[in-house]
Amino acid sequence: MPAVAAPGLAGSPISAAASAVQAYAVAARLADLVDPPRFESVEAFGAGVVQLWRLGNGMRVALAPDAWAPTVALHTWVPSGSADEPPGRTGIAHLLEHLLFKGTKAHPAGAFDRVLEQGGAGANAATWTDWTMYHEAVPPTLLGEVIAMEADRFADLKLSQVAFRSEHTVVRNERREHVDNDPDGQIEEAVLDALYGAHPYGHPVLGTDTDLDRVTREDAVAFFRQHYAARRLLVVMAGAVDVETALRALVAHHGRLPAGTANPAAPEPRVPEGPATRTVKLRARAERLSIAWRTVVGTHPDQPALAVLAEVLGNAESTRLVRRLVHARPLASHVEVTAVAPRWTGMVEVRVVLQPGEQAATAEREVDAVLAALVAGDPPTAAEVDGARARLLTDHFREHATADGRADAIGHALATFGGLAADAAFWQGVERTTADDVQRVARTWLVPGRRVVVRGEVAPVRVGRARTRGATGG
Ligand SMILES: [Zn+2]
Repeated sequence: MPAVAAPGLAGSPISAAASAVQAYAVAARLADLVDPPRFESVEAFGAGVVQLWRLGNGMRVALAPDAWAPTVALHTWVPSGSADEPPGRTGIAHLLEHLLFKGTKAHPAGAFDRVLEQGGAGANAATWTDWTMYHEAVPPTLLGEVIAMEADRFADLKLSQVAFRSEHTVVRNERREHVDNDPDGQIEEAVLDALYGAHPYGHPVLGTDTDLDRVTREDAVAFFRQHYAARRLLVVMAGAVDVETALRALVAHHGRLPAGTANPAAPEPRVPEGPATRTVKLRARAERLSIAWRTVVGTHPDQPALAVLAEVLGNAESTRLVRRLVHARPLASHVEVTAVAPRWTGMVEVRVVLQPGEQAATAEREVDAVLAALVAGDPPTAAEVDGARARLLTDHFREHATADGRADAIGHALATFGGLAADAAFWQGVERTTADDVQRVARTWLVPGRRVVVRGEVAPVRVGRARTRGATGG
């Protein structure tokens, strides 16, 4: 077995047993609080360990202290994202993420940023299909104050009509920039629609135009009340964090958030079946092609081999699609392959940017030829699989090397899958994946009935017709 996890522990500041001993000691000292937090478990995570706690109101806390880190990564995760939006209100999760920066009674808009900036800290946020997250990188001296401000905006969000209108405009512009006027965004919107249709993954995180037109401040308030209650929230701290100090601050501030309702484990809505082909007219110089397959849920045991398969096909100079489409003949300028492992049914996607003048249909034939060879006469070699696994594991451990990266990985795993076991199983699976596994998952999941193709064509340049009477758009 590849010796990856064990040597990693040499860099870990604390073992699982030592962490549990520390956690029980802290729990005993916190017994003086009216509503003390409950220590739940210590779990192995990557090359380190994570302490899991729960506040009296149900909020989960994950702590990964590291005495050598210069800063604390403070992340607040909401395990709801664009897949949890009510029908006809796509884009609301991302819009709400923006509204969280519009201030509260105690801290008007901009006050939070000023405190962070003065302390040399920074804040940002992100929305995905399965979650929304808010993160700060904070010097330890500022942590108490930042925890207080973070809890304040979750407790007392000021969702004024003025704030709503201004962020609504910002979000509309964001969609225009990243979907309507971005060829990659145009393609991605068509891919999601073709793969998932009315399924909650069938629209971009930025929402659809129609829905953004009708979303109201009341929709944002309703989404906030339902999804931002304590029993759904998760606070992750990694880096220079003192466990007892952090928990006392969280109890004092986050402890007053309303408990709300737990996140119901909803069954996955129906995923469409069958192949689909779409053509999109791009506003671009070069054509694009995307071929994607509906695969399996994020916790499925085939996900590690699908991730290795994606790396065998693309993303590095020596990979099959890059050699065939970029080097063997200059057909494409860029080839990227991703395996997405979300809460529900994920996908594998091959994205190609063609050279100007080349056609998406040509690239489609080439990609199909490469895949046909991989599942038949030319299976992946051990060297290809070793290289792919090494790249994935290097990225994984590089992410874990910083406090912010560790908090990201912990938060993503807990918010997406409800626990850390799925993440550990995924990485162990990557370490064990063989060439046979890669070929088997390609044969099993990259099949015509699960495949959608989106060809991004370039509109021919029209000469001398600019003033055609009655013509619109363009
Ligand atoms: Zn945004």
